[in-house]
Amino acid sequence: MKFRLQIVIESATGEHTDLHEVACVEREELRSDTVGLTLEEAKAVLEGIQRRIVEEQTAAYLSAQTSCPHCGKQRHRKGEHAVTIRTLFGKFRLNSPRLYHCPCQPRVTQTFSPLAELLPERSTPELLYLETKWASLMSYGMTTNLLQEVLPIGKQLNAVTVRNHLHAVAERTEAELGDEQVFFIDSCPRDWANLPRPAGPLTVGLDGGYVHSCDKTSRKDGWFEVIAGKSMTAEGAAKCFAFVHRYDTKPKRRVFEVLKSQGMQMNQQVTFLSDGGDTVRQLQLYLNPQAEHLLDWFHVAMRVTVMTQMAKGLEGKDVAIQPAVLKELERSKWYLWHGNVYEACISIDNLELVLDNDDELTAKRRSLLKALRDFRVYITTNARLIPNYGERWRYGEAIATGFVESTVNQVISKRFVKKQQMKWSPRGAHLLLQMRTRVLNDELRQTFQQWYPGMQNDVEEFKAAA
Ligand SMILES: [Zn+2]
Repeated sequence: MKFRLQIVIESATGEHTDLHEVACVEREELRSDTVGLTLEEAKAVLEGIQRRIVEEQTAAYLSAQTSCPHCGKQRHRKGEHAVTIRTLFGKFRLNSPRLYHCPCQPRVTQTFSPLAELLPERSTPELLYLETKWASLMSYGMTTNLLQEVLPIGKQLNAVTVRNHLHAVAERTEAELGDEQVFFIDSCPRDWANLPRPAGPLTVGLDGGYVHSCDKTSRKDGWFEVIAGKSMTAEGAAKCFAFVHRYDTKPKRRVFEVLKSQGMQMNQQVTFLSDGGDTVRQLQLYLNPQAEHLLDWFHVAMRVTVMTQMAKGLEGKDVAIQPAVLKELERSKWYLWHGNVYEACISIDNLELVLDNDDELTAKRRSLLKALRDFRVYITTNARLIPNYGERWRYGEAIATGFVESTVNQVISKRFVKKQQMKWSPRGAHLLLQMRTRVLNDELRQTFQQWYPGMQNDVEEFKAAA
């Protein structure tokens, strides 16, 4: 059996039809490997159709350019050069004539290239979109391989091109982000009272991670810090955000826009939860009059759990102090649960006395003692961020964000941290993070559709037309 695939070109009025052969597929017997088109055939067919459509479109456009729209006189041709455009279904070299402007109108330049001016971007938005989307989730090289395998885009696409395209798209979104401000509270308390009743509280979890830097000279130890966070509404709808600390000049604006897109009002409760630390402590200031910043109970409890495990691992002569240590650890946790940092510190001091009362400390006892001292520093440094967790919990208020850990993993680890040999520039990492969070928030396609309304094509409408 033979299948001849043809394309019929109709003019706008329905007459003047043109028929073109695109491909011919032959099939003999039916087997699992001969049913339907193969990937290579499908790619060739798509490329053939695309070539024909692109050529027809550009020919029609250029023929409309040959005469002056004002007086109708023929424009003279100065020559032509080739313009290459990359589409999802092939890379095409198009002839782009250079024409003389008609002397009937005053002009700054003598000549112009209508096609080159019409298509200033040499890659179609949909191709840019797919490159950006996949490269934000996996390596530039893998993205190139994937797209080349499933689309007829040729071998010329390479990892560097994909990276440059992603950077350009990310820079465009960065340019659209408003300016940084110290204060994002733009109204006064009297106005807040008049606002509609806000939705339930927003909970924002913040965490950080370190990324290997390719730029050793300017960064300590060859690492730089990435902050990732997730904001969740009372209904559980979540959005994530991320930025490279010190590289990003608009971190507050970034977080503010995420919260605003989730409907944040100035009379709405916003709770920031983090593991403490200077980097994240400043972020929520002046974003919202109702914003509060708390130490995430998850991190507090985790540290106590680690010390409890260490205490349970004490052996030999240390077994004698084990019950006292476990009891006191439990007590300090109970005080912290109730926001009583003062009593928790007394409890930790007691523990220190119990642990440090021997001339010859065992290695395990020494490491527990060190963990305990670090913990004391941790809670005293963050004392102002420690609320009465028990009370908040009874009132159903947020005290922990177990979800942030997974966000950090999702946003940072897979591409940055796990592949230790991979090194990043702060700019490259920051731009990639912007695209990745946009993809994870399911917003990248929407962004492209705003820039290129043609990408909003309705599939149902397309099917109906056929
Ligand atoms: Zn003219």
